[in-house]
Amino acid sequence: MLVAYTDENEPFILNSGISQTTLQQLRKTKKFYCPQCKQQLLFKIGSLKIPHFAHVSKNDCENLFSDRESETHLKGKEQLYRFFSDLGLNPQLEPYLTNIQQRPDILLEDSTQEPVAIEFQCSPISSESLVSRNNGYKFEKISPIWIPNTPDHIVKKGIQKITLSKNYQQFQLTSNHHPYLMTYNPTVRQFFYLSNIMFLHGNTFLSKVQALPLTDQKFPFYIPKPITKNEYKQFLLINQQVKHNYLQARVLLSRSGVNDVLLRSAYELRMNLNELPNYIGIPLKGSEALKVFSIDWQLALFYFSQTTQIEISRMKGQTIDYFLKWARFPETKNAHEVVFTYCRLLENLSVQHVYQTIQEEKLLKVLYNHFLAM
Ligand SMILES: [Zn+2]
Repeated sequence: MLVAYTDENEPFILNSGISQTTLQQLRKTKKFYCPQCKQQLLFKIGSLKIPHFAHVSKNDCENLFSDRESETHLKGKEQLYRFFSDLGLNPQLEPYLTNIQQRPDILLEDSTQEPVAIEFQCSPISSESLVSRNNGYKFEKISPIWIPNTPDHIVKKGIQKITLSKNYQQFQLTSNHHPYLMTYNPTVRQFFYLSNIMFLHGNTFLSKVQALPLTDQKFPFYIPKPITKNEYKQFLLINQQVKHNYLQARVLLSRSGVNDVLLRSAYELRMNLNELPNYIGIPLKGSEALKVFSIDWQLALFYFSQTTQIEISRMKGQTIDYFLKWARFPETKNAHEVVFTYCRLLENLSVQHVYQTIQEEKLLKVLYNHFLAM
């Protein structure tokens, strides 16, 4: 906690501008109390964490309202609070919202706009807690903005393959249908944007990583742009590499043989898995709905088309539902949409069967145009 009440019932806000000597002096001469439970608090001035307040013993109050005050959390909260102060937005630090019994890290209230709650999230949060806290904010007509701390493994910038745990995936935002994550790293005082997120398989995604120093941030927050055609080309190159490694592993590890839809499809189509055409295994937005790597379902689609004698151009509506059921993929609206999109892309490329060849340049052009149009 960075806010406590004094004996005079005045809020006291800790900030990094207060000197060590002043802090020591304050600790000797003053008492500080929790704004909520009114218990006297410990004033911690150590070398390990930035100065903060803490309850004497872990009580319900602390459990309910703080995000296990790690150094990262305290630091980030303080830096973000200063950022909003410097912008003249009159932020409130750790305000307690009685009606919903929640305490956002920062609250921005401006009479002309809907209030905004800023949550700098440094520990994993269950989807149930996240939904319940968002519902609380909704009830109070507050828009929450969740900023997870930057995952440790995100250090380099640029187009790359990233892994994102389920915890991080729930903070995904979208701008014009382009999914992105806005994370903050208080150690380097930079926002790390993971933009243009595209599913590969499991928790692996393609993304563009950008760093934005806190001093260059604005509010409303910066929104990342769609990647350029050249960057998209890099996406496809990485995808190619991932596809290759994935197939090697699949061929070696698969024991289920005929029950394996990928191997079965390849076999029935008389395709060598190492020589699949470039339009199979295309990364598409939202393809996490299928739960498997794009190669699996895209090759299965061609097998389905051949077995049922249903041309790709006629794959829409019920035919797609039938395909999802037949291949035992999730029969959801999102899965349906991704398959539909893929069929239309194939139509654009004039691909009717799996034995056609498409020039890389043409594929890139069609895919990138589709990517932008979404
Ligand atoms: Zn308390």
